Amino acid sequence: MSTSGVDHDLVVVGAGFSGIAMTIAARAAGRDVLVLEKADEIGGTWRDNRYPGVACDVESHLYSYSFELNPDWSRAYAPGDEIQDYLLYVVEKYGVRPHVRFGTTVQQAWWDADHQRWEVAFGTGNTLETVTCRDLVLAVGSLHTPVAPHIDGLELFAGEVMHTATWSPGTSVLGKRVGVIGTGASAVQVIPALAEEASTLTVFQRTPTWVLPKNDHEIPESTSERYERHPALMKAQRAKIRAANETRALGFTKQPALLKAVSLRARAHLRSAISDPQLRAALTPDYTMGCKRIPLSDNYFQALARRNVRLQTAPIAYADEAGIVTQDGSHHGLDLLVLATGFDPVQSWKDTNVYGLGHASLSQRFEDGVDSYYGVTVPDFPNLFLLLGPNAELGHTSVLLMMEAQVELIMKLLAERDRRGASMVAVRPQVVPAFMAEIDRRSERSVWQQGGCHSWYLDAHGANRTLWPGTVGEFERRVTNPEWVDYEFTS
Ligand code: NAP
Repeated sequence: MSTSGVDHDLVVVGAGFSGIAMTIAARAAGRDVLVLEKADEIGGTWRDNRYPGVACDVESHLYSYSFELNPDWSRAYAPGDEIQDYLLYVVEKYGVRPHVRFGTTVQQAWWDADHQRWEVAFGTGNTLETVTCRDLVLAVGSLHTPVAPHIDGLELFAGEVMHTATWSPGTSVLGKRVGVIGTGASAVQVIPALAEEASTLTVFQRTPTWVLPKNDHEIPESTSERYERHPALMKAQRAKIRAANETRALGFTKQPALLKAVSLRARAHLRSAISDPQLRAALTPDYTMGCKRIPLSDNYFQALARRNVRLQTAPIAYADEAGIVTQDGSHHGLDLLVLATGFDPVQSWKDTNVYGLGHASLSQRFEDGVDSYYGVTVPDFPNLFLLLGPNAELGHTSVLLMMEAQVELIMKLLAERDRRGASMVAVRPQVVPAFMAEIDRRSERSVWQQGGCHSWYLDAHGANRTLWPGTVGEFERRVTNPEWVDYEFTS
């Protein structure tokens, strides 16, 4: 129970990487936190994504909390289950678990202007409960709601259909005829793993993807021991990875020439793995590298060159009981169809059904056009904070850096509000259009908008509403040094 007439100081929705970081920071500042998690375990992305081959394509020593570096990463790029184990460790070490209520799905949250607090209604099985809190943090992530393609007749298909994000770990593909739709970052990881065991694997490609070598390798025990003894060395390694990744941001937004050299590496990588010129041509993208996320892999092209793997580039026409028919008239018999078709970046924000000042709905606001201030605050939603909200995702390095900066901002806003004796903090409505105009201006010449592709980075109008169009360093500087004039502190 909080001390200020509400059930909790802070309610955090979601117990993934960002919800856990938020809880740790708020608890350290003496705030009482309730975390509502709809699943039965923490972990978010790393709990849900259990498909064969799942791993992170950001190096382990950067893809971890800055306050809890891990000397024991087994590989340069950690597999998904090792990241989940890391999160489980952090949760125990920082005493987060007792503050989490599992199996709770937020149905609705509304701002109670009379009492200056949030009311949050959530379901636990058949019952609906409501709690009150001063502050509400949505840590639901933008890559949470799987997108399934519309395929005529798919309901007739007698085999199994599974999205990468809902893969059930017990699934065996041994000897099965498997189809994968998609060639994005998830597909690049799952395809090599499935190809090892499936009797045949058909990859339905709509758009080829640029792939860079991952150069993944085991981290020797001697290195882990050295990091354990000398954490400064581990920090130096983290800083080195971070600096190398940051240069890519310039290529994406300002200097596309920088991507030229990198795309030559990607072409050489493709050439070295695929000797068949026809297959190579089918796998060569016609858009500028970086327009979509650039997956890293040491075995994707090698898998496509296997005898049991076929690349299908004719568009999908429809499905029937036995498999997929493509527009060239071919029938592809399948036992299992894997949808590596990505996520809806806005749906998870809408699903929380949040209503702010004047009963304005966040869902409606985002339907009309996504906006926010640094992906954290939204006009007319006092004491509401998003983590990794609009324009806070990245295509070039670890999003955890962005999320930690946002957590720091939230803690500073709460502290300043309390120092002023105010009960409400909200971004000033006039600040946000100028910020969104800056995002638009800086994205205009970016490879995401000019690169000749369409991706989940862009909304229906072709505007970038997901990525930060700059370096992490700039984001951190701006976000962690808030201008108080940008915010209203009222009672
Ligand atoms: P994605 O990048 O959105 O890729 C979806 C793929 O499915 C694309 O190849 C797309 O083709 C294809 N597709 C979608 N609908 C289709 C349809 N109706 N017919 C045929 N093909 C269709 O999704 P993702 O690979 O899951 O990755 C999403 C994001 O998750 C990434 O950008 C990244 O941020 C994150 N991620 C990160 C990691 C990591 O290691 N850190 C790993 C996986 C994912 P088109 O290209 O033609 O649209």
